[in-house]
Amino acid sequence: MSQAVSRADFDQVMVPNYAPADYIPVKGVGSRVWDQSGKEYIDFAGGIAVNSLGHAHPKLVAALNEQAQKVWHVSNSLTNEPALRLARKLIDATFAERVFFCNSGAEANEAAFKLARKFAIDNGGADKHEIIATANSFHGRTFFTVTVGGQPKYSDGFGPRPGGVTHIAYNDLAALKAAISDKTAAVVVEPVQGEGGVLPATLEYLKGVRELCDQHKALLVFDEVQTGVGRSGSLFAYQEYGVTPDILTSAKSLGGGFPIGAMLTTAAIAKHFGVGTHGSTYGGNPLACAVAEAVIDTVNTPEVLQGVKAKHDRFKTRLDAIGKATGAFTQVRGLGLLLGCVLADAYKGKAKDFMTAAAREGLMVLQAGPDVIRFAPSLVIPDADIDEGLTRFERAVKSVVAA
Ligand SMILES: *Cc1c(COP(=O)(O)O)cnc(C)c1O
Repeated sequence: MSQAVSRADFDQVMVPNYAPADYIPVKGVGSRVWDQSGKEYIDFAGGIAVNSLGHAHPKLVAALNEQAQKVWHVSNSLTNEPALRLARKLIDATFAERVFFCNSGAEANEAAFKLARKFAIDNGGADKHEIIATANSFHGRTFFTVTVGGQPKYSDGFGPRPGGVTHIAYNDLAALKAAISDKTAAVVVEPVQGEGGVLPATLEYLKGVRELCDQHKALLVFDEVQTGVGRSGSLFAYQEYGVTPDILTSAKSLGGGFPIGAMLTTAAIAKHFGVGTHGSTYGGNPLACAVAEAVIDTVNTPEVLQGVKAKHDRFKTRLDAIGKATGAFTQVRGLGLLLGCVLADAYKGKAKDFMTAAAREGLMVLQAGPDVIRFAPSLVIPDADIDEGLTRFERAVKSVVAA
């Protein structure tokens, strides 16, 4: 028997590590979502850059249903057809020659950091284990990934952290030059810092990071958990920049709403993850891989990728105008359909107020830290939904400014 539940139940049954909004979505089609009361929302959040093809996309529903009739799960002492097909497609579309599947972004990064250290130590000895990451970066919530992440508030309070991790300022090549050495196993960078405020790397920075890694035989790891799978307007942001990493991690948009993560790398690096070195029970699950295959088939087309760039411009033009008219934000930045409005000084720390006001107007948006309002909609959001959503956003911004 199903039981009526409401937001109030959350505080009774859930660990209090989240503070969800006061409405519960129950249905979604494309970029529209409805809550328990039947109120409609336009979705500019995409489940934090996850619902890359919106809600209930027919191709994803078909892929899931089809695989659900066949085989849901096998252990990793067997392989499966969807995983092999997906891996082949990711390899054909990128620099990669080998793929490891898991269930989330954090797990993809955990695998990447372990592999980078294993590779470095195997080749350069026990001292070559240091990882350099950037301030304000985000790489997931396992203890290794929060430690590599550059937001100490996420790793404080849990006792001793894994060692050998240092942080330097983002987009600061001189800082990396000073920090990198022959003990560096890997440098980890998000091509656009997502959680850190939708802050894109400069091209000179990524090129310089690549050169410094090569000079010191350090691996370059791109965390594309948020920027990957079409969001930048290329399949992966590294292709948009033209700077190729040694290891790339993907998740979020890759599953379009079904949990999956992937780590991509070269054959020469992959061979350091020999039999038994790493694993994941659900990683490479046939249901997840079947859905992700349909995501890649749909997203990795000129229509969708060019559409992302056109939709970026549509957002940017109107957001610039709203910022100018209201004075609420001073800058609109980002790549493709990952956009951030940087709040003006008078509104610093108030990103959540804008989120709440948007929800009242029937619009789902995100924050990226306290000072940036973030948008990560479906890559195929109809132009009419963008226009109507931005009209609701403008009303929400005006209501916060008037308050
Ligand atoms: C969301 C995110 C992660 C963590 O992904 P999970 O699926 O939540 O584990 C890691 N890196 C980046 C850049 C992200 O945006």
